[in-house]
Amino acid sequence: MPLPVKRWFVFSFVFASVTIRFSTAAAAVGWEVIKVNGHDYLTVDNISKFYGLPAEVVPSGAKIQTETANQPLEFVSGSREAMINGARSWLCFPVLEQNGKTLVSRTDVAKTIEPLVRPHRVANVGKVQTVVLDPGHGGHDKGQVSRYGAEKDFALDVARKLRPILQAKGFKVIMTREGDYFVPLEVRAKIANSARNSIFVSIHFNATNDDPNATGFEIFSFTPRGAPSTADGTVTASSVYMQPGSSVDAQSMALSACIYHSLLGQLREYDRGIKRARFAVLRLTKVPAVLIEGGFLTERGESKLISNKDWRAKFAGAIGVGIENYQALPIKKQPPMLVADYRRQAKSPAIDTAAQEGNVNDAEGNSKQAAANVKEAAANAKQAGATAKQAAGNAKQAKANVNEAAANVKEADASLLELVGRSAFLSQPQTSTPAKKTSIESAPIIP
Ligand SMILES: [Zn+2]
Repeated sequence: MPLPVKRWFVFSFVFASVTIRFSTAAAAVGWEVIKVNGHDYLTVDNISKFYGLPAEVVPSGAKIQTETANQPLEFVSGSREAMINGARSWLCFPVLEQNGKTLVSRTDVAKTIEPLVRPHRVANVGKVQTVVLDPGHGGHDKGQVSRYGAEKDFALDVARKLRPILQAKGFKVIMTREGDYFVPLEVRAKIANSARNSIFVSIHFNATNDDPNATGFEIFSFTPRGAPSTADGTVTASSVYMQPGSSVDAQSMALSACIYHSLLGQLREYDRGIKRARFAVLRLTKVPAVLIEGGFLTERGESKLISNKDWRAKFAGAIGVGIENYQALPIKKQPPMLVADYRRQAKSPAIDTAAQEGNVNDAEGNSKQAAANVKEAAANAKQAGATAKQAAGNAKQAKANVNEAAANVKEADASLLELVGRSAFLSQPQTSTPAKKTSIESAPIIP
């Protein structure tokens, strides 16, 4: 949806000068912390300049789609919702407007934006010998049941399909369950914790009682200390005092990004985003860990899709590619393939679909109206193609910017480390609550 009111921060065109400033005067792009009610914030302008990435702030209530994301960094005024490199990414705290500036919490710059924009720079990232696959539920715990089958069976099938894919790439694979039986959540975590250089990938399918039309992918990693989970509206005492956070949360975010971009780029489901939660398996694992929700069993079309074994094979394949890209981060020293990269690789289904619709009209109507429809569909397809191309171009440019910036920001990084180290938010007003969903995984689990 095109939005008439947009405030643009166009820094890509002055990138050359930004690069010089990174290399010659790191202090010039240091962090200017702004205090709001005792909490630390940074301006979007500051963030954009630091990364050398164009940023944009869209009005409150705007809904950015993957297809309409224009900039590598897009924020929604007053919201926790953001688009980072073309994928929806939920901030811990809403962005604020003050004195004409848009402010992002220091916690989010350190814990959300940094690992998503520069996952390749996360310490110890990509160190994987063993992938622990965790098919959700099992035995008496069926998970969500649709008319086509149970979540526990679909999740197990995806893990079984994914195992040989990963083994072929040289990974050791351990499954927390091999068949239809129940494994306690703490046992699943223990399996991951006792494996050498492991990562933990939990596979689930989604459900909601609130909206029968809800669809799409989402991925979770553990919520940082002192921050609310994505489904929480406010900071609770438990989120601050009872939850220690994780020493590997940056690696988990990097893993989230690698898998999520691959899923979204290859399967074209609705983008619900990269989220945070304190699910037991994420809380109890000491290794990089994510939980994937591969679509809704409560939505008719998507539940049918999930019941299709070919679709599940594609889903498993996309997770495999994401894991491989995660492992490659420290080798390639650049961000993983992004949604736009995957979509550019594939043929444009938007054009195919429009053309097919045109053919149907033509055959059925065989009239001038039908011919006009075809023409319009073709025009739409062309437009869609152009938009996709533009988006891909932007993403490519962004990626190039990130790469170049990464090569020049060694000095500036010291200030970022400082930022990460000092992150501690104790309370925060919440002005936006993402759509709630109810599923077994959603219930906050307090020790
Ligand atoms: Zn589940």
